[in-house]
Amino acid sequence: MSHAADHRPVSEPAEGIELGPLAELARRSLNGDHPGEIGTMLPPLIDHHVHLMIVGVHALADTAIAGVVDLGAPLELLTEQRSHDGLPHVEFAGTFLTAPGGYPVGRPWAAPGCAREIPVAPRDGRGSLPDPAETAVSEQQAFGASVVKVALNAAAGPVFDRATLDAVVAAAHERGMPVVAHVEGEGMTRLAIEAGVDALAHTPFTERVDDDLVARAVAAEQRWISTLFVTSYGEPAPEREMALDNLRRFHGAGGRVLYGTDLGNGDQPLGVNPAELALLAEAGLGASDVLAAICDPWPLVERDDAVATFVTGPSPTTIDGLADWLASACIVPAEDLEAL
Ligand SMILES: [Zn+2]
Repeated sequence: MSHAADHRPVSEPAEGIELGPLAELARRSLNGDHPGEIGTMLPPLIDHHVHLMIVGVHALADTAIAGVVDLGAPLELLTEQRSHDGLPHVEFAGTFLTAPGGYPVGRPWAAPGCAREIPVAPRDGRGSLPDPAETAVSEQQAFGASVVKVALNAAAGPVFDRATLDAVVAAAHERGMPVVAHVEGEGMTRLAIEAGVDALAHTPFTERVDDDLVARAVAAEQRWISTLFVTSYGEPAPEREMALDNLRRFHGAGGRVLYGTDLGNGDQPLGVNPAELALLAEAGLGASDVLAAICDPWPLVERDDAVATFVTGPSPTTIDGLADWLASACIVPAEDLEAL
């Protein structure tokens, strides 16, 4: 190897793959740690699907993940977390809203109080009683939730009828909260899309979403949280192939993908999961698409600009190298970085 090759700058276009508009060459300031170090600066990294009730509220401290979206926890956990202001930043869905006896009621991992069963509303037209859907949504918001999670799992029990689901979605949207759905079982993706659900908590993995329905999801600007790794924990499986095929066509049609791991579900590394990133690449996302998926501030609209992600050294030369490269990232105060 020539001497010049050892000192090739990280920005050299011929060397690294195209990382897109979110990545910038940067130098760490002389005041902070590692003064003068050169690398790549990115917005904060976000895991859009975790369960702190399973992994613990501090499980992701000291990782490269600067923000998480908790998609199902007892309301006590929201209260407990409110007094904690370290990283990662947490957005909450609060409890799973589900039909009486529906998923995840009775699951061994489901902590007491993490699911709220909503009865079918009495629709006598008199309006004398508060709507149970509205009461449930309003309670999540009062405890600090910024997203509403509904469980639509026809493979594991009863699911909402369309009118109750509509009432939940309407109550959430009236309060400016997006709705995210766990869809599993035949017809559940269609139900979520037709009811105006804003995001899917998992790429659909139990049914093929046909191209027309994919197009409807894209047109509605629905977001799909990836969670590809937990379909089979790295093993070949029909669920994984189903999810990859669905996500490949959703992304190909212009759908918005969010990086999410469902951390707490099975054995996964704490922090960025390189296997999830590799599966996103397998679903056809290029490096800049992967970065868009992991840096999307959803459900927030604005990014936290107080912190940034920094990856030391040269950028990856292949899409396969992206996962390990990103897994070596760290969080730094944005003011410690100088764009070059
Ligand atoms: Zn989950």
